[in-house]
Parts: sequence; structure tokens; C-alpha cells
Amino acid sequence: MIAAEPLRIPVIAVRNLTISYGANSALEDISLDVIPGDRIAIIGPNGAGKSTLLKAVVGLVSFQQGAITVAGDRRRLGYVPQHENVDWNFPVSVLDAVIMGMWQEVGWFRRPGRSQAAKALEALDRVGLSEFGKRQVGELSGGQRRRVFIARALAQQADILLLDEPFSGVDIAAESDLMVILRRLNSEGITLLLSTHDLELAREQFDKVLALRRKVIAFGSPKTVFTRDHLAELYGKRVIAYEGDMPAEVFIDEHGCCEDHEGHQHP
Ligand code: ADP
Repeated sequence: MIAAEPLRIPVIAVRNLTISYGANSALEDISLDVIPGDRIAIIGPNGAGKSTLLKAVVGLVSFQQGAITVAGDRRRLGYVPQHENVDWNFPVSVLDAVIMGMWQEVGWFRRPGRSQAAKALEALDRVGLSEFGKRQVGELSGGQRRRVFIARALAQQADILLLDEPFSGVDIAAESDLMVILRRLNSEGITLLLSTHDLELAREQFDKVLALRRKVIAFGSPKTVFTRDHLAELYGKRVIAYEGDMPAEVFIDEHGCCEDHEGHQHP
């Protein structure tokens, strides 16, 4: 549960953020307020800067200009990295992986005590993994691995989760399980900021959408963001297939060929 906090005062305030990797500009003049309890999906094509924005907020990339303010302790930020960026062969049990996330509380060279183990178990329970504490993380499915990271964040008392493409590479059932867990956490007061390629999911499951393509193209309710003009600006020359008014799939049409967001070629 989050501590009582005046609503509408941003928990994360990003102001005029500009980030380049060498000569390559990743984000330009981004301003954004995240309010307690927000459920925000970040959408945009590959290379739009979604990961960079999340990493900047948690302090994993430095920035050249602008400011990021997090209300209170930065430990309230729980980051779930892209799946590919984690070494899942690291030989550690699920419970230990969660306890390792609590190092700031435990201290690097001290053994975790009973209270830490209890907190870790409670966090595993909140993500539906209470039976899995003794398993090796490498034995888990993709969806369960994401849940371990969420449990890790919860155990360290995070109340703002930043998730980088948590649904990529998981099947539909696992995606739906994960979304149920995230919605439940959100209803308990956890703020969610999540990047995704899945426009339908962003539109159906999130109360705000940030359309990002190096700059903020639009930010607000799905209804205000999912307009044809914004999507055209977001995906450029790419062709967006609509089902009714709903953008269903994005095909890239830039080089005379078409591929979808997973890199699959379409004739
Ligand atoms: P997204 O998550 O939307 O796919 P990224 O934040 O990963 O976008 O990337 C934004 C831009 O920054 C891209 O042009 C990408 O190539 C570049 N970029 C990302 N990470 C690095 C890095 N570590 N070094 C150099 N360039 C990077």
C-alpha cells in the first residue's frame, strides 16, 4: 500500500529531458507528469526512446539536459528490464532472486533475516508465485520470470513499477495473467509505467497512453491519443491496419518492404 499522498501531485516529473547517445539523439525535450495510481502505456516504433525514458527515470542512463524529479525516496521505483537483458542462467532460486533485490535493506555483506524472507514470500504471493520460491529462476517460463522481477520490486517496497516491454515474447495466456496481476497491483495503489508494442493492450488496459517518437507526440487518455493523425505521426510512412476505429497492427513501409513490430516480413 502506498502512504497517503496528495493526489495529483506528480510522483515522477520529467521536464525538458534530452538524451543523446553520442551523435544519436534518443529523446528531445520530453516533459511528463506521472500521478500516483496512474496506469500508463508508452507506445512508439522501435528506436522511439521508450527504453531510454524508463532507464533515465530509474537512473540507468545519464541525460544531457532537463530534469527528472521523483517524489520521496528513489527506492520507490521498481524497474523490470527487457527480458533479453537479463542472464536467466544465473543459478539462483526464485526466493533468493527476490531477496537479492532487497540488498539496500539487508546490506551487501549481511545475511538476510527472517523478516526479509517473509517479505519476499509475501511479494511472491502477490504475483501468484508463492509455490515457486525454491525453483531456479532459469526453470521458469517467460511470464513467470517477469513476475519474479515484479515481486523483487514489491519486496523492496517499490510502489511505482517501470516495466520495459514485459509482454514481448510471452504467449497470450501469460500476457493475460501478467496483465491481471498488474491491474490488481494498480488497484492496490501501485503506479504503472510500461512500454509496449501492443496498441490494443495499451488502448484497452491503460488509463493513459504516452505516444513517443523521440518527442512526445501525444499524452492522455487512450481516446485522445489514438487518433489517426497521432498514429500517422508516430509510425510515419508505416501502414496502420484498422479494425473499425481501432488500430490493430502496424506495418512498416519505409524501405519498400513491410515488417511488423516483431520484425516479421509481410508481403
Ligand atoms: P525503444 O525502446 O523505443 O525501442 P530505445 O530507447 O531503445 O528505443 O532507443 C532509442 C534510440 O537510442 C535508438 O536510436 C537506439 O538505437 C539508441 N540507443 C539506445 N541505447 C543505446 C546505447 N546503449 N548506445 C547507443 N545508442 C543507443
